[in-house]
Amino acid sequence: MELPRPLSHSSISLYEECPQKYKFRYIDKIPEKPKHFFSFGSSVHEALEFFYGVKTLPAPSLEAVLSYYREHWISAGYKDNVQEQEYFADGEDILKRFYQKHIADFQIPFFVEYKFDFKVDGVPITGRIDRIDKTPDGKLSVTDYKTGKALEKERVLTDGQLTLYQIACEELLGAPVSRLSFYHLPTLKEQVIERHTEEIVSDLRKKITRVASSISKELFEPSPSEQRCRWCDYKPLCPVYQNTGRKNGTSSKKAAPQTLVLTEEAAEDIPALVDRYGEMRQKIRASMDEAEELKKKILALFQEKGFVRAFGKKFEVNLLEKTEWEFSDKNQVLAALKKAGIYERALAPRLDRIVEILEDADLHQELKDELLKLSQKTQKKDLKLNPLSD
Ligand code: SF4
Repeated sequence: MELPRPLSHSSISLYEECPQKYKFRYIDKIPEKPKHFFSFGSSVHEALEFFYGVKTLPAPSLEAVLSYYREHWISAGYKDNVQEQEYFADGEDILKRFYQKHIADFQIPFFVEYKFDFKVDGVPITGRIDRIDKTPDGKLSVTDYKTGKALEKERVLTDGQLTLYQIACEELLGAPVSRLSFYHLPTLKEQVIERHTEEIVSDLRKKITRVASSISKELFEPSPSEQRCRWCDYKPLCPVYQNTGRKNGTSSKKAAPQTLVLTEEAAEDIPALVDRYGEMRQKIRASMDEAEELKKKILALFQEKGFVRAFGKKFEVNLLEKTEWEFSDKNQVLAALKKAGIYERALAPRLDRIVEILEDADLHQELKDELLKLSQKTQKKDLKLNPLSD
């Protein structure tokens, strides 16, 4: 098969992590849930892109950067409002400190968010580089901003993302790279190296052709591990977890991909169906809320004007009065009924109570058999819908 799309650093890493996961993501096109850390990273990156994206000096003010950040904040994937607010404040803090540290040496970069598309040994590759500067001697300096946890020590020395950027810059911009940097924004610390060696470049080229060839041969063997599968959104679809009878944890057994319950066509439809279902439920809820508000307004007008009936062009409404009772102490009410000898009259047989009795392990078998003969049990299925940002 052809590659479903050009390879990028992240899709190569995904294939290496678990080929089955790559298949779910890029061949079956089943999206993963939004993740708050991606939303946070993108929000801060976009604010920096605004900061460095000016065409002429002066640099934007701190207020302008923060206001851009606020207006372009991405809310998806946060657990709740509290978590989102915490991250939002962290982002503001990072931008303020970054601004204070760099406003004095502000220079318009050679490129901001440089998007590249090219081929490495015949394999289409795509990517985006946060920032490229030209050094005084005409060479290139590449910076990748990171917003996550602290970088592993010496990651800059061999990281494939920077190797790919080095290859792309040299091939497409025609100048040698003399500085590669990971800039960790929360700590404002940089890991810098001059450039990656020819050996590292050659290893990455080999990896790219190997991954592309495996995808073309449709090699999508799952690669399960406790850590990897625990956070994988595709676990409910993954062949490794089909028919294992396990609810949690991992299975060391690798199942063949054809045990997947969904056909590829069906899997492709599922995201659209889930979203449509969610949107319809949201619309129903919104309509119910709106109808309730309208009802309250009509009742208030009826009360004010003393009306009991009103007409629109398509509908009419009539005022219904119903009396509702509440009893503060049910036990005392029942005791009073018992005392009067009419307790049984107040008890209607409720279906849920009968089912409760039927499922009672201590129930006399004869009564159970009799109730079972009188019953019909059907298994109904329903869906529990949650918004993705939950
Ligand atoms: S659940 Fe594990 S094995 Fe299955 S796709 Fe996800 S990471 Fe791969």
